[in-house]
Amino acid sequence: MDVDEIRSDLTEVLITEDEIHAKLAELARRVETDYAGNPPLLVGVLKGAVMVMADFARELKMHVEMDWMAVSSYGASTESSGVVRILKDLDTEIAGRDVLIVEDIIDSGLTLTWLRANLESRGAASVKILALLRKPEAAKVEVDVEYVGFEIPPAFVVGYGLDYAEKYRNLRAIGVLAPHVYQ
Ligand code: 5GP
Ligand code: MG
Ligand code: MG
Repeated sequence: MDVDEIRSDLTEVLITEDEIHAKLAELARRVETDYAGNPPLLVGVLKGAVMVMADFARELKMHVEMDWMAVSSYGASTESSGVVRILKDLDTEIAGRDVLIVEDIIDSGLTLTWLRANLESRGAASVKILALLRKPEAAKVEVDVEYVGFEIPPAFVVGYGLDYAEKYRNLRAIGVLAPHVYQ
């Protein structure tokens, strides 16, 4: 879906499809260098990271395996609690593997802090993080994110995998959701 279809649902288009793809290409070149001869296992966090994973993985000029986890950190509230539940676990045994977590966005960073510790505790050789977007809140916690696409303002964004009530994930661009949609 293109922005034109839902223009009035957004206050602003933050990042276009072309800008996303150019950034993923940039990150892919870094990952190819950093993991040369030693391709990582990409672990996508469902559902938001589906688009990032699909485009980033295809951009890579190296063999990679892909696996998926689904976690829930919010419970009933809209604030991240840091209490994480695994809804779908990996199929892959990761002991000794170099793992690269692929995420859509880091807000509080609590989910990723938990996830990294969880994967490290399974004996992964290394666990690094790639996130397409990062909000300023993330600065409050000590989560080292090796690969960040874009730093964005603290607004609620949708598109390119990111949803509001399960909608807008299939929007090609990333935009700020207009308040009238959720008020
Ligand atoms: P946190 O880093 O706060 O633990 O949680 C990050 C998760 O919250 C993301 O994976 C995403 O599902 C959700 N999230 C955080 N900020 C936004 C946003 O601006 N838009 C959308 N659609 N989801 C967000
Ligand atoms: Mg996510
Ligand atoms: Mg969501």
